Amino acid sequence: MEGTIVLYPLMTIGHLVSIVELGKLIHRQYHHRFSVTVIITEHQFVTPDVTAFLRRASETPPSITFHHLPSLSIKPSPNRSRAAVRCELIRFNNPNLLHALQTISETSTVRAFVMDFFCAPAFCVASDLGIPAYYYVPAGATFLNLMLYLPTIHNQTTKNFKDLTTTNLHFPGLPPIPAPHMPQPLLDRDDEGYPYFLEVSFSLPKSKGIIVNTFESLESRVIKAITDGLCLPEAPTPPVYSIGPLIANSINQSVEGEESVNQSLSWLDAQPSQSVVFLCFGSRGVFSKAQVKEIALGLEKSGKRFLWALRKPISEDNNKHFSMESGEPDLDVLLPEGFLDRTKDRGLVVKEWAPQMEVLNRKSVGGFVTHCGWNSVLEAVCAGVPIVAWPLYAEQHMNRAVLVGQLKLAMPMEASEDGMVCAAEVEKRVRALMESEEGKVFRERIHKMKEEAMAAWSESGSSTISFTKLVDSWIY
Ligand code: UDP
Repeated sequence: MEGTIVLYPLMTIGHLVSIVELGKLIHRQYHHRFSVTVIITEHQFVTPDVTAFLRRASETPPSITFHHLPSLSIKPSPNRSRAAVRCELIRFNNPNLLHALQTISETSTVRAFVMDFFCAPAFCVASDLGIPAYYYVPAGATFLNLMLYLPTIHNQTTKNFKDLTTTNLHFPGLPPIPAPHMPQPLLDRDDEGYPYFLEVSFSLPKSKGIIVNTFESLESRVIKAITDGLCLPEAPTPPVYSIGPLIANSINQSVEGEESVNQSLSWLDAQPSQSVVFLCFGSRGVFSKAQVKEIALGLEKSGKRFLWALRKPISEDNNKHFSMESGEPDLDVLLPEGFLDRTKDRGLVVKEWAPQMEVLNRKSVGGFVTHCGWNSVLEAVCAGVPIVAWPLYAEQHMNRAVLVGQLKLAMPMEASEDGMVCAAEVEKRVRALMESEEGKVFRERIHKMKEEAMAAWSESGSSTISFTKLVDSWIY
């Protein structure tokens, strides 16, 4: 055994799933050379989907080790941004992380410390111990591009991005991005999350390498811009390893939720081929009550079959789309009167969570309305299901810009100025995706991309080569 690879994820489902997949991949292909340990942080913000995922991951082979750090608690403060709290938690955990790395090092050489890029405040722990630190980006190269180029864009203006309502930002290799489409913590320079994002940006180039969950043919222009050094005009770009798509076969929210999981899958199995549009907005996406009603009316008017994973609304604000809260929505109160009855022969609304990977791979599913979270994008590509892009939070607006404007893999869902998407727009996009000639073209394009995704992991595929180079860099 040549040593241990230590992975340090961020504890949200969208960040955790693919880094655990990376751990399993290393174990499957190189268990004779490396053991894999995933360091798990415990704190009051860990959500049930994360706990359920970890329980399953530790029960299923291949067996990688999960090392849990002591539980941390920080004082809740309603005014602090999510990003600022996350940053503080990571920093508070540094002594625990140091202890964990020292303990692992007593019996094995730590060949690489692979940390989620949002764990940048922990970079110094590995570097002080002389352990090679790599960043892992569970989002695509588009987001990596943003994070590398952020200091340059930051220096181009002294204004808040949210106030530059008519300005497009120009990142190398990306289509123009309207300034207010930057991720939330970057919109306002006074947001506590803003310096944290800059800290991440300054830390990325110091690493031994950056591992990205993407593949060459999906984001070739963006990857080229990064590897050509255009995103880091002032410093050398570390090696970038595009080793995606890394996606899990199945993420079930909880054992208790199995009944609704089975219900949606058996319902799908009874529907005709490619007849169902699936609507799902990630682990955190929510809408106002008014928006939920518009979606329902649009679906009803479209006449199409649908499966809709619906989370509980938290606010009447049409621009608030992120919620950490869990809890079942009351469908009778939320949906238009008589909606469930009128659509019972062609539609199913599931509360909170649908088994997305299984759903996308059902024959009856012919379209996907998604918030463009990166895992969802990769899962749609790998299943060959065409997309309507309805970004809600994080870097999803940028993902949409690339998917719609550059790759032509998705149709846009257009919101009006107040953030509301009206029923007529939902109807129009669902119909276009499911029954128009244009929809067919999108289906063919995404099928081609699915083949490219499979080719990336073939014997001489781009991700296979990149992964081999990464592993070679651990032997020194
Ligand atoms: N997911 C799921 N069912 C749901 C909601 C989400 O299985 O009802 C999974 C989805 O398949 C994906 C992950 O949760 O793997 C969400 O990651 P993504 O990056 O798409 O979005 P995020 O939740 O991070 O915004």
